[in-house]
Amino acid sequence: MSDAPLRFVQEPARAIPVSADYDVLVVGGGPAGITAALAAAEDGLRVGLIESRSFLGGNLTIGLPVLGFLGQKGNQIIDGLPQKFIDRLRRERDGASEHRPCPLHMGITLVEPEAVKAVALEMLVEAGVDVQFYTFFSDALMDGDAIRGVVVESKGGRSAILAGVVIDCSGDADVAFRAGVPTEKGDADGGMQPPTLMFSMAGVDTDRLRFSIANAPPQARTYLTDFIPAEYFGQNHQFIVVGLRELMAKAKAERGLEIPNQRTIIITGLKQGEVWINMTRVRRTDATDPRSLTRGEIEGRAQIDDIVAYLTGYVPGFENAHFAKTAPFLGIRESRRIVGRYVMTQEDVLACRHFDDAIAVASYPIDIHRPGDDDCTLIWCGDCYDIPYRSLVPLKVGNLLVAGRSISATHEALGAIRVMATCMAMGEAAGRAAKISVRGNRAPADIDLEELRRQQLERGVYLRNPDGTRAVAPGRVPAA
Ligand SMILES: Cc1cc2nc3c(=O)[nH]c(=O)nc-3n(C[C@H](O)[C@H](O)[C@H](O)COP(=O)(O)OP(=O)(O)OC[C@H]3O[C@@H](n4cnc5c(N)ncnc54)[C@H](O)[C@@H]3O)c2cc1C
Repeated sequence: MSDAPLRFVQEPARAIPVSADYDVLVVGGGPAGITAALAAAEDGLRVGLIESRSFLGGNLTIGLPVLGFLGQKGNQIIDGLPQKFIDRLRRERDGASEHRPCPLHMGITLVEPEAVKAVALEMLVEAGVDVQFYTFFSDALMDGDAIRGVVVESKGGRSAILAGVVIDCSGDADVAFRAGVPTEKGDADGGMQPPTLMFSMAGVDTDRLRFSIANAPPQARTYLTDFIPAEYFGQNHQFIVVGLRELMAKAKAERGLEIPNQRTIIITGLKQGEVWINMTRVRRTDATDPRSLTRGEIEGRAQIDDIVAYLTGYVPGFENAHFAKTAPFLGIRESRRIVGRYVMTQEDVLACRHFDDAIAVASYPIDIHRPGDDDCTLIWCGDCYDIPYRSLVPLKVGNLLVAGRSISATHEALGAIRVMATCMAMGEAAGRAAKISVRGNRAPADIDLEELRRQQLERGVYLRNPDGTRAVAPGRVPAA
């Protein structure tokens, strides 16, 4: 950063064209945005979605498995639209695995990035959502304390999009921030979880990898994994390896490799011999600052060669493997979080809290790639916790909802609620709430929450009763 004083120019005021007018506008087409748009459009409202990239999916397209469908007791706790999306990926494109139990991650669901892009777009187009790519949200249009639309930038210039309700699914709370919602970043010292540039490798003998872990004699295990018993790998051909710490330490000592991570993280892909590597790690990156993000891209890319050298030189199954490609962008774990009507905390997660205004159930542990060092904090609560609607409703600004990783939560709670099945569940709730708001001509903060719960249950969303059993829509019989 330069120390030179900031200079300013005066931007002349000007009229800009209104390029669209919707009942509901969704900003961002990642996991939360896809389901938000689908839910908002289900009864025929005019719904638009803008996305700065050329495809839908957000982090569903960077080689990550979807986490969060299964709870810590092994039962499925996300259903509704996220499940419909996975069903269609599986049915039509062989683009998703089953929900596979995992001792560390509770459940993993592998998805094929290209299938995600195709199926998400097909579903939105079929639902009548007006999708616009290559369109960057740049500012909020306010009428007093209420948002009335957004300003967007594109090759076509600057224009306004008006909407009855805006749902911010940008991941970075871009809309909320510009509209004047209070936002926060990071832990008590402002430290945020580091981003990762994911990359894939091909030609990996994943059976050799998993049996090397599973079959090593217990008294002399070379390939030690974190929390996941070695036997697990003998029983599952789709898996995530987390650990191999000693092996990596050996590689660093012998070869002088620079890998800013203590854990090896290998995720099997859906294609034969393909794996995704979640190991680059760029500290002190702020995803809301393009210069910082650019440095992150540079550093993340520079880390790949040493990671590949480690994997091919030391990890069984990688003997004949080669680097295939990087993900389309640096993956952001954490940036802005809104301050909403309720701020979810670590205590809520660890106490498995129920909320009267629950819109989704989650169970993923607190999983923080620590901002200050090269390791990770993992804390399980033993069961499930609710996501309250009030955490999607920002303070200060009306007609706005937020879904996805930037909802109102502390740094610690974000570490748990950020996984993609949970983000999709939040998106679905926000879309349905926006629909109820528009239909009833009431602000999102004032909608009838019983009506939201009823509609959620009728559409197959998983919610809990106070005794922890699955809630059913009024008049429906619980499944045996
Ligand atoms: C390296 C890494 C590993 C992870 N591992 C897992 C995992 O294994 N499993 C799991 O389930 N989760 C994992 N997560 C967490 C998860 O991927 C994210 O928390 C989740 O994707 C957030 O979803 P979202 O919809 O809120 O945002 P995103 O997925 O970030 O989507 C936001 C979308 O909004 C668009 N957008 C942003 N700003 C604008 C703008 N101004 N104008 C227009 N469009 C905009 C973006 O292009 C993007 O498409 C991981 C995250 C990272 C980074």
